Amino acid sequence: MNAEIIAVGSELLLGQIANTNAQFLSKQLAELGINVYFHTVVGDNSERLEKVINIAQSRSDLIIFTGGLGPTKDDLTKETIARVLGRQLVFDETALRSIEDFFKKTNRHMTENNKKQALVLEGSEILPNDHGMAPGMGLEVDKITYMLFPGPPKELNPMFLIYGAPFLLKALGVVERIESRVLRFFGIGESQLETEIEDLIDTQTNPTIAPLASDGEVTLRLTAKHSSLDVANRLLDDTEAQILKRVGKFLYGYNSTSLVNELMNKLKAPGLTIASAESLTGGLFAEELTNIAGSSAVVKGGVVCYTNEVKEHVLHVKKETLETEGAVSRSTALQLAENVRKLLNSDIGISFTGVAGPSESEGKPVGTVYIGISYLDQPTEVYPLQLAGSRQGIRTRTIKYGFYYLLQLLSKQGN
Ligand code: ATP
Ligand code: MG
Repeated sequence: MNAEIIAVGSELLLGQIANTNAQFLSKQLAELGINVYFHTVVGDNSERLEKVINIAQSRSDLIIFTGGLGPTKDDLTKETIARVLGRQLVFDETALRSIEDFFKKTNRHMTENNKKQALVLEGSEILPNDHGMAPGMGLEVDKITYMLFPGPPKELNPMFLIYGAPFLLKALGVVERIESRVLRFFGIGESQLETEIEDLIDTQTNPTIAPLASDGEVTLRLTAKHSSLDVANRLLDDTEAQILKRVGKFLYGYNSTSLVNELMNKLKAPGLTIASAESLTGGLFAEELTNIAGSSAVVKGGVVCYTNEVKEHVLHVKKETLETEGAVSRSTALQLAENVRKLLNSDIGISFTGVAGPSESEGKPVGTVYIGISYLDQPTEVYPLQLAGSRQGIRTRTIKYGFYYLLQLLSKQGN
């Protein structure tokens, strides 16, 4: 689309005002990807304006007029265009009402010539004037798009941005694209995450940021709107970067992925194997991992070590540890992880022991959990947790923490 801007006004030719409307419109059109090839200025003279329109019609397919939409005799832009295009001027009821309202509000008497401002080109789309009386217009005739704007910049600028640009995008056949991206976090509570980025959530309009929480996970959905897919993605990138500057260490993935999926990919690539010793989770961890196709290359196996008997006799947790520190303890978690790794001959051993409830055990409150991770010959790590919620909630969140700690460990190793 090649555009030409025609500014109408003798003041411009006399040098009394500068043609800042053309400058403003050129900038806006450039942002929409529309080339502006000509700026024309013509005085308040119908004959000369007609000539200018004829020339523009021969070389441009978007012609934008500014000025001369007012109520006085020298305002002749739309009358001239109507004549050139062979179109009637008709009263626009909405514009007429808003002009009447304007006079009522300001307690002034409305004269006949003010009505003239409600005259619009037949068949045109009205661009409302939120800051004055003369409405703008947009119409297409013989494959040429015409747009008319009032002269005062404080009326033209908002009118273009709010009504003019969407009209043009429609004329160009451009639909607004909606792109969204989901950022997935773990290890940070919903309210903490929201507090960290509260100002961004409150001030962002494009993209918007919508938080969502479920089962210990927090996700942020970023949604950007733009006619250009590239620009929409750039807007998403910028906002994502701002968010990650603050809470990036809790991000584990994008869009529809899950912790277990990310973990499986991280284990598969370097060909690592894993074995689990599960007490309070009763096999949930192994169940989730083996749910994924291709898990046989990664999962060696697991032991559900629900009783102390199995912890001691199958997984060789020291009797003394179980008696003095208990099954729910740092030391038990550590031995379970190390021993299951050795017993099942895997690269990683992970253990889960804790109190899922509903009642406490060994004098330890519901939600006390220890996760042990033994990785090759590195010192075994034990992660203590204090979780809240139902029995099932505690169990599912426990294995998610297991996935999360493994992911952290693997990324620390550079996997
Ligand atoms: P009004 O209803 O105020 O008469 P109009 O649409 O008839 O509006 P003009 O009479 O041509 O517009 O101009 C009104 C005022 O708008 C001018 O005095 C000037 O301040 C401003 N203006 C007009 N054209 C331009 C322009 N091209 N660039 C910057 N300002 C302009
Ligand atoms: Mg005027």
